[in-house]
Amino acid sequence: MRKIIYLVISLIILLLIVGGVFYFWWQRAGDSLCYLTGEENVHPEHKLPDHHIAALNISEHIDNELTLQQKIDAINNQSGYAILAHPNMPKHIYTVPELLSLTNYFGIEIFNGYCERKRGKGFAENKWDAVLTSGKKVWGFGVDDAHMDSWRGYGYSVGNFSDDESFKECLESGEFYASSGSKFTYISFYEPLKRITVKTDKTSWIKFFGKNGTEYYSYYGQGKSYYIQGDEQYIRVRIANADGRAWTQPFWIEENGSVTQPYDVADLPTNKFNTHCHGVFDTTYDWYLNHGYKGIIITNYNRITDLEVKRN
Ligand SMILES: [Zn+2]
Ligand SMILES: [Zn+2]
Repeated sequence: MRKIIYLVISLIILLLIVGGVFYFWWQRAGDSLCYLTGEENVHPEHKLPDHHIAALNISEHIDNELTLQQKIDAINNQSGYAILAHPNMPKHIYTVPELLSLTNYFGIEIFNGYCERKRGKGFAENKWDAVLTSGKKVWGFGVDDAHMDSWRGYGYSVGNFSDDESFKECLESGEFYASSGSKFTYISFYEPLKRITVKTDKTSWIKFFGKNGTEYYSYYGQGKSYYIQGDEQYIRVRIANADGRAWTQPFWIEENGSVTQPYDVADLPTNKFNTHCHGVFDTTYDWYLNHGYKGIIITNYNRITDLEVKRN
């Protein structure tokens, strides 16, 4: 009898030890960011006009001497994502004709925290509407573009993903929204009624914009629906409240009247991520990890943050 009791006690102790080790491992495993490599491609001497491109998910540096279109093509050839950075920032402006003549870029930064704080030029919805109205389907990103810790966190995007692969899928599908601080708690599209519904956590100005940046509807509250009429070309939603602003991706009205949109109501975006920031790997990674982010891409000038140092 006594032997059995000893055996049971030993088993319990063993289980506790194994369970403890597993729990510790599991906690550590969850304690990491989804991470893609990238760089901010700039002219080596910042020769004007110095267009910046956030080149994400690439493994080799993009040649600075290429033309803008060649750079975009080179990024795409590496299965990367070319995001045109801070299109309204003085000295780095993308003009509307430039944006319309370039092809196959993945997105543009509609909010850049660094440029907003430094020059008041961080918002670029005007450029986004010009691009969308021309028929180019590019995603809008919010970023902080922080060069130091004290500038971090002002501008990010929010999506659903759990590892590097699903982080990429999230970017590709567009199932995320851009933010300068505000939060959507619900984004959905009900096909039979062509109805877009958004909700927020705070009373907000909720505005529905379409072609040429036309404001189709405006409402002050915590949630609103909009019924697509058919001639808007696209509808995108912006909320503005005490925390800042946030922007959905566009809901596209196709030629046949059907609507293409990225949001699945069962999969509301929840994870913060940042696709444009600067700094050495360790401190940058740790800052975002400790501030509730789920994914980052460090985009230093003309230099890819080495994969070898990842998560060491
Ligand atoms: Zn830049
Ligand atoms: Zn930058």
